[in-house]
Formats: sequence, structure tokens, C-alpha cells
Amino acid sequence: MRVLITGGAGFIGSHLSDACLERGDEVFIIDDLSTGSFENIRHLKDHAGFHYTIDSVHNQPVAAELVDQCDVIFHLAAAVGVKLIVESPVHTIETNVRGTECILSLANKKKKKVLIASTSEVYGLSTQVPFREDGNLVMGATTKGRWSYACSKAIDEFLALAYWREKKLPTVVVRLFNTVGPRQTGQYGMVIPTFVKQALANRPITVYGDGNQSRCFCHVGDVVGALMKLMDDERAVGQVFNVGSNQEISIIDLAKKVKELTNSESEIVLVPYDEAYEEGFEDMPRRVPDISKSNKQIGFAPKIDLEGILRTVIEFHSGQNSQDKRSSAAER
Ligand code: UDP
Repeated sequence: MRVLITGGAGFIGSHLSDACLERGDEVFIIDDLSTGSFENIRHLKDHAGFHYTIDSVHNQPVAAELVDQCDVIFHLAAAVGVKLIVESPVHTIETNVRGTECILSLANKKKKKVLIASTSEVYGLSTQVPFREDGNLVMGATTKGRWSYACSKAIDEFLALAYWREKKLPTVVVRLFNTVGPRQTGQYGMVIPTFVKQALANRPITVYGDGNQSRCFCHVGDVVGALMKLMDDERAVGQVFNVGSNQEISIIDLAKKVKELTNSESEIVLVPYDEAYEEGFEDMPRRVPDISKSNKQIGFAPKIDLEGILRTVIEFHSGQNSQDKRSSAAER
């Protein structure tokens, strides 16, 4: 199989590249390195089955050639990370909507199957926990930048499903819940790499709000396996699937767990949302997926629990720390 992964140098995209290569696929990626990083794919650059293009999916001629070369497309390129989204809403909306429009219209010319990575953020302020794929999406006010991400991804979903209904382009929509693992940086606000780096450096662990908000974290390896199975499943076409863990933890308990597992001396501090993001910021109090649909369809069940996830992230960042120390010693 010849696979195109947009956003292939990102955190999830690079793990998906690894897994597709491992099963013998030929992998093409396109990434503009806006939130992705070449470091994520450096280990693949000399692999005979791996081809990378550093460019934007908005560059039509380049994207068109890649789409033509491949059998299927995982569309992961998007603006991600709450911090980035709140700071750059124009970039977020344009990247997410235009990128998806571009990929779907190109794929449609030769009817290449597209899997669109969407997000649990689309459930917005819904209180119907656990979230089911057929539940209502509850958007916040348009004056709050955060919801531009949810809306832009919801438009992506509508478009993908419309291409299937109207034009018979095979598409699958996957709503990813909080996904974590090695290579994820805390740069765009993601909580686990942020806490782990703070704990390893014995700096204060910054819990936003009162810390009672909860999330469910899934290991990237489990998520990547589900993406591949959903792509391969003919019966998944034209449908939406939740993919994530349903093991829930409050952010304050997460901070305590990270501190304990790293033997850190960090203090845990509460930071008001207004200070952390922007005035009037609205968080989702709980975000728990109902994963029974993916479980029934592809047997999806996360294998790595929260402690296992934290250990892989701690190991990754401990390695990075010693690498950083080695390179600064060498520079001296
Ligand atoms: N969070 C936190 N401290 C941080 C970063 C994030 O307390 O340094 C909180 C954030 O407010 C949210 C949760 O952790 O309630 C998860 O944040 P993340 O950005 O990882 O993902 P989200 O689920 O919000 O998309």
C-alpha cells in the first residue's frame, strides 16, 4: 500500500509513519513543520520506503502529485494545541478548513480513500458524558477563540461526510481524544509533556483552574493502531468514530501522579485560566469518550494504562534532558 500522511512529521503522524513502514507500506508525508518537527522523522529519512515533502497541504500542485502517487490518505495536518489556537485563531481556522478542502477535492478526482483526524474538542461544552458519536455538539460563543478550533474541525467533518454522501468519495472521520506519548512537546500547551518537563526540572507544576477538570489519556501507539484498522475497514466508510481512552483522571491528580513517578521536589501550583490562556477562557470540565462503537467495529481497546503512558513520556524526556546536557557540555 502507498500511504500519504499529511502532518506526517507531527507527533501522531510520525508514529503512524513508523507503524505503516513496519507493516511494509510505502509512506509519503507532507508537513510544513509548523507544529511538527524534522526531529520526529530524522530516524526515517534514509529508509527506502519513506519519502518526505516539507511543504503545506495548501500548495495544490505539490499536494496533487502526492495524492496521485498514493492509494490512501491519512489527513492529520492541522493547527493543534489549545495555547496555539487561542493565540492564533486566524491561522487555526484557515489551516484546518482550507487544508481539508484541498485534500478532499484532490482525493475526489481519483476517489482515493481519506481518513480525517478530527478531535474530541468538537463535543465542546456538551455535558452528555461519556460522549457518543451521535451526540449533540455544543459550541461556545464565537467571541471565545478556543471554539474556533472545534468549529473548524466540525466543518472538516461535515465536508468529509458530504463528500461521501454526495460524491461517493470514501471517507472516515476519527475523533481523537487526548493522545500522548514520546515526541509530544509541551510547546503548544499539552498537559502531560508540560507536567513531566516541569517535574524533571523541579520547577513548579502548573495546574490550570482548580484542577478538578478531568481528561482521559491514550497512548499514541494505541491510537495509531486504531487509525490503521479504521482505514482498512470498508464498513467504516462514511462514519465517525471516537478513539481514545476512557480511564478518567482529574488534572490535579495527574499532577500528583507525575510528581510521584518522577520523584520530583516540584510544588504543585494553581494558575487561574485567565492567566494561563486568555480572559474568560472556557475549559471542558470532563472529556470522556464512549468507545463502544470503535470497539465493536475494530475491537479497539487501549492496551497501555495511564501509569504506562506516563512512564514512556518520563523516559523520553529524561533522555532528552541528558541529551541536552551532553550537547551543552560539548559546546563548552
Ligand atoms: N493544563 C494544565 N496545566 C498545563 C497545561 C494544561 O492544568 O500546563 C490543563 C488544561 O487546562 C486542561 C487539561 O490540562 O484542562 C488538558 O489540557 P491539554 O491542553 O493537554 O488538552 P485539552 O484537553 O485541553 O485539549
